[in-house]
Amino acid sequence: MHEENCIFCKIIRGELPSQKVHEDEETLAFHDINPIAPVHVLVVPKRHIASVLELTETDAPLIGRIHRTIQRVAKELGVDESGFRVVTNTGAHGQQTVFHLHYHVIGGRQLTWTM
Ligand code: AMP
Ligand code: ZN
Repeated sequence: MHEENCIFCKIIRGELPSQKVHEDEETLAFHDINPIAPVHVLVVPKRHIASVLELTETDAPLIGRIHRTIQRVAKELGVDESGFRVVTNTGAHGQQTVFHLHYHVIGGRQLTWTM
């Protein structure tokens, strides 16, 4: 999907509402609209990247930033000590539905392998 029609690009541009948890120059974290656990936040790069398959070596600093944001979200929402899961679905079998790279941060209850 092209960036103009991308739902997460629209959230990043402020054209669609979101419940923000954290924002910096390179990343945005906001609550998932359809949470599967008490804590379910999406961490996205502000630059449109379709999936992990599009990442290259030059994105290493961005991947670091994303992980810093994940840490902040976990602390902010109080799941840093209880634990949480970070998931990035990719492609058809991964059930990726939004083709803008995003990391689900899921916690606030005991998770199982099938969630
Ligand atoms: P995935 O299925 O891994 O591509 O994840 C996409 C996620 O985006 C799903 O968990 C949706 O609930 C979530 N989602 C879709 N639209 C929005 C939105 N407008 N605001 C917040 N989360 C959304
Ligand atoms: Zn996008």
